[in-house]
Amino acid sequence: MEYPNFSLTDQVALVTGASRGIGFGVARALAHAGATVAVAARATDELHTLVEEIQREGGTAVAFPLDVRDNAQIRATIEAVQTTLGRLDILVNNAGLGANHPALDVTEADWDEMMAVNLKGLFFCCQAAGRIMLQQGHGRIINMSSQASVVGIRDHAVYCASKGGVNQLTRVLALEWSAQGVTVNAVAPTFIYTPGTAERLDTPSYYQGVVERLPIGRVGTITDVAAAVIYLASPAGALVTGTVLMVDGGWTAQ
Ligand code: NAP
Repeated sequence: MEYPNFSLTDQVALVTGASRGIGFGVARALAHAGATVAVAARATDELHTLVEEIQREGGTAVAFPLDVRDNAQIRATIEAVQTTLGRLDILVNNAGLGANHPALDVTEADWDEMMAVNLKGLFFCCQAAGRIMLQQGHGRIINMSSQASVVGIRDHAVYCASKGGVNQLTRVLALEWSAQGVTVNAVAPTFIYTPGTAERLDTPSYYQGVVERLPIGRVGTITDVAAAVIYLASPAGALVTGTVLMVDGGWTAQ
């Protein structure tokens, strides 16, 4: 029999939102699995720190400044990745915002900002990368969703709506592109300790409430998420497309 292959050697990956948190760790893990990694976000100093860290670990990475709210920047950056690194095999659409507001307090600006990053930016990154991948006849797109895409979380109305949209985009793109060699999936984590969640998870009562609802009895780690991304990006994940892989410690099983 052929054994499953989790190696990403000779693959070129782009990770958005790589300047901190999950994106930072996923980029390192992709490089560790053998990929050359293009790392993108607005905070360029942090991207350069990441590039140095990956190089120290023996990998290859290049930084690309990117604000995913701007479609022209998305197109230019993804073209630059292809020109600089020769191809684009893996896109991890990780850039995202979280916010905690009771629904009655949400402003139009809150709505527009979150949708611009979490949903519109993600879609146009898929579109720009999809054009390249379809021409290559090979590609892996992994969209960072959330457990909040399939269950409601109090005070997260816009976030939940944006991540529900991510799952639906994932399914439709999988239908359109899988036969041409481009798989499209989402990873849906539970609470992961990152700069984006530290303030809430550092509040003991909040942390306690989260862990009590998690059947696995702990919050997730960036490594838990990176493992799912690598599986979906690797040859081992070839048959998986149009799915939302819950990395949620059982949160949505109840
Ligand atoms: P984080 O620590 O707040 O980091 C967010 C990343 O997104 C940063 O690198 C940030 O980079 C980037 N970003 C934000 N706005 C951007 C923009 N306009 N253009 C380009 N990049 C932008 O977040 P995280 O906790 O690691 O979460 C990462 C992803 O996982 C998000 O999609 C989030 O919804 C999802 N997720 C997180 C959790 C969790 O518990 N942490 C759970 C489920 C899902 P710059 O500010 O430098 O641009």
